[in-house]
Amino acid sequence: MYNEIMVQRGAEPSVIRELFEYGNRRKAEIGEENVFDLSIGNPSAPTPEPVETFLRTHSGGHGYTSAPGLPAVRKAVASYIQTAFGVPMSESLVYMTCGASASLAIILHAVLRPGEEVIVPVPYFPEYAVFIAAAGGVLVPVPTDEAFHLDLPAIERAITGKTRAVLLNSPNNPTGAVYTEEEMRALGKLMESFAGRPEGPILLLADEPYREFAYKTAPVYPMSAYDHTVVLYSFSKSLALAGERIGYIAVSPRCFEPDRLFAAVCGAGRSLGYVCAPSLFQKAVTGALGTCAGRELYCANGELLYTALSDMGYSCAVNEGAFYLFVKALEPNAAAFSERAKKHELLLVPSDPFGIPGYVRISYCVPREVILHSLPAFSALRREYGG
Ligand code: PLP
Repeated sequence: MYNEIMVQRGAEPSVIRELFEYGNRRKAEIGEENVFDLSIGNPSAPTPEPVETFLRTHSGGHGYTSAPGLPAVRKAVASYIQTAFGVPMSESLVYMTCGASASLAIILHAVLRPGEEVIVPVPYFPEYAVFIAAAGGVLVPVPTDEAFHLDLPAIERAITGKTRAVLLNSPNNPTGAVYTEEEMRALGKLMESFAGRPEGPILLLADEPYREFAYKTAPVYPMSAYDHTVVLYSFSKSLALAGERIGYIAVSPRCFEPDRLFAAVCGAGRSLGYVCAPSLFQKAVTGALGTCAGRELYCANGELLYTALSDMGYSCAVNEGAFYLFVKALEPNAAAFSERAKKHELLLVPSDPFGIPGYVRISYCVPREVILHSLPAFSALRREYGG
């Protein structure tokens, strides 16, 4: 009687959200300070003061906006992209959305025809699988190298006549990898070599909620590495506004038929009900474009955790950005390891939903004390495995 695919999807909630809910229950039972919830990427840094001040001092104006967003806001975003990254951008190609999730759902519906393929480096944000399937596409996983950076020959081998897009996330959730300018340009060159094919160019979909959280080098702006690029941005992480659902899609004017692509974005937004992103937050973020909350805190948390866990004998991926540490589980079954960690009140996300077995993801966008107080628990967990 109902759509069974949706019933099933709703009945098997995301592993990250399950852990997050478990953490909330556990905190109520034994006290917040006794649970080390390193599960969800929910920024703990305060939202920047100019945004808070804006929210405190503005009232009214809560009506519908234009479907793709307020003209002044789209203009501000376009001009920020042009100035900050030195690429052409037009306000007519900016669509305000409810965070990166809506951006992903919209762009995938806008570009995929049934059965078309999206190449995704592994590991990847688990919701990609849901969004791609919902849009009628096929997720084609490709391996990354030993440092979780791009494996270009693997991407080239994965390209077929049905490939519509490559979906990238840098700085990366869950590995913390930040793709270098060199590898982005090499990817752009590779994709450019397919631009003349009868099926049309392959799109680069750049999911960028962690753009500002690159701790070693500033990541290249994807539109400057490849013409046929769409950037999916969110203010969830950079302005610590994850619960408010605000972000944007920016279509490069250098894309093939950018106006038609943007029309498809509008059509998909309309079809999915993602029109008129929250009006107050469209305005609130406009004065804070390029601002980043919590960068220093998270960078220091990441370094502390990396050093402490490595000293204990854990094997951690080198942490270049975002706010996740990707750590080898101490037994082959990451879910079993995560269950054992729970006994120490450590909430770590097993890697299987990210498309790779044998790791856990540790989210460190938490207050410094949580990291410090969690270290004895990590040590005790290590000792259980004979360390
Ligand atoms: N993409 C990646 C890689 C993420 O890590 C997240 C959230 O954690 C999202 C998209 C969704 O972000 P939003 O809260 O803006 O919907």
